[in-house]
Amino acid sequence: MPRNPRYDVLFEPVRIGPKVAKNRFFQVPHASGMTNAAPHVRAAFRGMKAEGGWGVVCTGACSVDPSSDDSPFPFATMWDETDVRSHAVMTEAVHAHGALAGVELWHGGAAAVNRTSRVAPLSPSGVPWMATHVGFMSAQRPKVMDAADIRDLIRWHAEAAVMAERAGFDILYVYAGMGYLPYQFLLSDYNKRTDAYGGSVANRVRLVAELIDAVREATHGRCAVALRMSMQELRARPSDVAESEAHEVVGLLKDAPDLFDVKMDYSAYDCSPSRFTAEGSHEPVISFMKEVTDKPVVGVGRFTSPDTMAGMVRRGVLDLIGGARPSIADPFLPAKIDAGREEDIRECIGCNICISSWHDGVWVRCTQNPTAGEEWRRGWHPEVVTRDGKGQVLVVGGGPAGLEAALTLARRGHDVALAEAGREFGGRLLYETALPGLRQWGRVADYRLGQLRKMPNVSLFAESLLDADAVREFGAAEVVIATGALWLPNLCGANELPTGPLDAPRVYTPDDLAAGVVPEGPVAVFDFDNYYLGSAVAESIAATGAEVTYITTGGAAGAWSFMTNEQPGIHAALHARGIALRTLEIVTGFDGETLELAQIFSGAAARIAARSLVIVGQRAGGSALYEDLAAAPHDFGLHLTGDALAPGAIAHAVYQAHRTAREVGKGRAVPRRDAPFAMRDIARAAE
Ligand code: ADP
Ligand code: SF4
Repeated sequence: MPRNPRYDVLFEPVRIGPKVAKNRFFQVPHASGMTNAAPHVRAAFRGMKAEGGWGVVCTGACSVDPSSDDSPFPFATMWDETDVRSHAVMTEAVHAHGALAGVELWHGGAAAVNRTSRVAPLSPSGVPWMATHVGFMSAQRPKVMDAADIRDLIRWHAEAAVMAERAGFDILYVYAGMGYLPYQFLLSDYNKRTDAYGGSVANRVRLVAELIDAVREATHGRCAVALRMSMQELRARPSDVAESEAHEVVGLLKDAPDLFDVKMDYSAYDCSPSRFTAEGSHEPVISFMKEVTDKPVVGVGRFTSPDTMAGMVRRGVLDLIGGARPSIADPFLPAKIDAGREEDIRECIGCNICISSWHDGVWVRCTQNPTAGEEWRRGWHPEVVTRDGKGQVLVVGGGPAGLEAALTLARRGHDVALAEAGREFGGRLLYETALPGLRQWGRVADYRLGQLRKMPNVSLFAESLLDADAVREFGAAEVVIATGALWLPNLCGANELPTGPLDAPRVYTPDDLAAGVVPEGPVAVFDFDNYYLGSAVAESIAATGAEVTYITTGGAAGAWSFMTNEQPGIHAALHARGIALRTLEIVTGFDGETLELAQIFSGAAARIAARSLVIVGQRAGGSALYEDLAAAPHDFGLHLTGDALAPGAIAHAVYQAHRTAREVGKGRAVPRRDAPFAMRDIARAAE
């Protein structure tokens, strides 16, 4: 199909200093968890986006010196020739598809606590960055930089720039954002210096200007130099000479870089979950950029709608459409817009499982795109599946796992029948996307159903509850069971060991609520699942007007949700809805009128009034249908997948199902192992 002319503007080339981006799709630097230890994994992950049409593809933060060490988080380095070799694999993969390659040269300053290198962290004035936040927590406070440290910092950037050019990068970043060192110089809260680098805005900007000059001079103007800057705090600070300090800073630097890349200051706002923030949420902070500078500007906002993207350019907010999450969820987003296939875009749902991967220290994972991070290790392509399937496959269960399995099996060429007991497809999503803020998660089902409905080799059967006889009668050569998991009404002890089910009136699980139960208030929600669902359930019940108390074993609501940047929003939402929050407690008893609680460390008892108790705790996988089928002799392949295999996040179910579908009829594939380049490889290559 031809491209919709409305989107032509997105395919115009953009000059960035000495380089030209072929279109306006710019994959901004984002964490991938793929360090220099996995060069081929990283190259394949980034290269896929170039193949999918992104005009610029950047790698994530890349340390310029061991005094910027984020371990155990999986950061990249530009310290020596092994790093040059490692990055060169990525730039080759990106250039192979006509995209520019960018690198985010990075010094973390006080926000990199140097756990491995053990170098004293550097800072303008000794102020730590978010000292009680898990990622930045340290018992050591940063050193105040002296004049020699500043000279070193500039030299490290220049040396890293030279290496980066040798590695093949076209765009070199100076990174003054997210609490990292140059950012701390910009902000008076962190910069209390009395030398030429502190005090007035002009002085605070000096270091950033010198870093830009150093990177440009080191590469003799051959590479484009980008400045990435966080604007949230600066925009909130008044200025005597401009609308805000952000205006003043950009005004002073307006001609310095070849490109401005602008963002927010804190991960939870910069990369906020769709649960609490809409597409394009950065605009109020960064909208002034084009009024102050003539240089091209790139920014993000979880853009998935081509109309929003084109609007950003037409309204003069951005020149380049930055994408991190949308490019992970669908590396082929630009190619699909170009081909007039907007309805085929696998839209990011804003769940932030990708960000949890960084916090976990592993390669990026994505709920929507199960192939992310598996391009090289397993040879998975997000759009292309080898057409080697023949014969009939029956998939039982139409939740995220069943839908993904059906789609991938159909792409392999099988004749696929998908049977779902309910009237609609979507499984757990049908209830969960009706909870406050979770509507966009429905894209997991929408995308897959949209694709399946277009395929001639797929039959969808709703209202088809299958038992073992029905499955056998169907006569498929392969059967995939994706019947999901069940929530249990079990409590847990102070050590989080599960105890038995609670025998009391009006005790419910999320499955009961999904089936239509409306709990009588006051309602207590006991959450030891510790992800999103407990708080979302509490919110939805409070929205009906019931009095709600949310109780958790965790030290904060949704304890695991700090991994997905949801936790600040959860606390704000509980507060806004008047939900009482009780942390570090377990439920020890309930009689339908009074709930008994105990503090998990002290055992201190408490009682609150409640008519209903909702337990969001343990889930059980397994499938009676699978057990029945496996127990009798059968001549079909039988596979258990998704939450029925092991209950988890939607990302787990989709991934397991994708893998099951790839392996049906072929058996288990053995993934490849990547390895870092060593100095001896470099020496050998030089011989
Ligand atoms: P997952 O996340 O693994 O996809 P879900 O719980 O979201 O799991 O979806 C499982 C789906 O399987 C539900 O929609 C449920 O109605 C369906 N299902 C369960 N048992 C059967 C069965 N015997 N026949 C058909 N569909 C079933
Ligand atoms: Fe988007 Fe979720 Fe995928 Fe991240 S994991 S890219 S937020 S769909």
